[in-house]
Amino acid sequence: MSSERGAAVAAAKRIVVKVGSSSISGPNAGQIAPLVDALATAHGRGVEVVLVSSGAIATGIPYLRLDGRPQDLATQQAAAAVGQNVLIFRYQESLDRYGIVAGQVLLTAGDLEHPTPRGNAQRAMERLLALRILPIVNENDTVATHEIRFGDNDRLAALVSQLVDADLLVLLSDVDAIYTKPPQQPGAVRIGRVAADDDLAGIEFGDIGSAGVGTGGAGTKVGAARLAAEAGIPVIVTATGLVDDALSGAEVGTWFDPRPGAPAHQAPGTTGAPGTTLEA
Ligand code: GLU
Repeated sequence: MSSERGAAVAAAKRIVVKVGSSSISGPNAGQIAPLVDALATAHGRGVEVVLVSSGAIATGIPYLRLDGRPQDLATQQAAAAVGQNVLIFRYQESLDRYGIVAGQVLLTAGDLEHPTPRGNAQRAMERLLALRILPIVNENDTVATHEIRFGDNDRLAALVSQLVDADLLVLLSDVDAIYTKPPQQPGAVRIGRVAADDDLAGIEFGDIGSAGVGTGGAGTKVGAARLAAEAGIPVIVTATGLVDDALSGAEVGTWFDPRPGAPAHQAPGTTGAPGTTLEA
């Protein structure tokens, strides 16, 4: 499996990486630089990289002089409006070390479901990538609030990976993989690989966001991973600190096999024996 998976990652020409709020805001804002290092390394190999980043609300909170995440949706949206430009500034400052230019793309799931805005978004993304720009996508929180309430951009990342017909989706979080139960519980075992036909019945998903500033968790990651895998895109769920390993084809996190025969993706990684692989 490892060489098969390594080959799939090495062959990926277009990769979508999603990072959550708690990984790159507040005390973890310093993780932007190593994340950018990993993305820039892939970009330097000629890979087309799209970053889907949450963190607008979390980054905006101190600018609104709030002690913690606001409870009401309108103030969350206000925090996102304030935090989004700070977030993009931080990414650009970090990307400057490599001479890479970021492009801000704000989308809604609805945009991606309707042919006209979907076509517009697709054309813009293709052009950005052809120009070797690194698109940084977030939900457009002033007009849509799905990810604020349910997913910290996990679902959006799966939809974006389909929009750009990515060869790989990497979902980053605070935890290094999906486990058979919340990882702090005794007996939790890392799931190394999820076969395309495995519904993960009997797996308990706790909330794995540790800092309380985002809304994603293992459940939303698995849902998003399935959405992309069903469309033929292989997925890795792992920790933000392991992104470099994941992009180098190392056997980290949880790998979701793409559905064999799904459109446009006769992807490597689909031919192994079915069944979930558990790794201690
Ligand atoms: N789009 C939101 C953000 O970037 C989602 C994350 C959240 O709910 O905190 O901040």
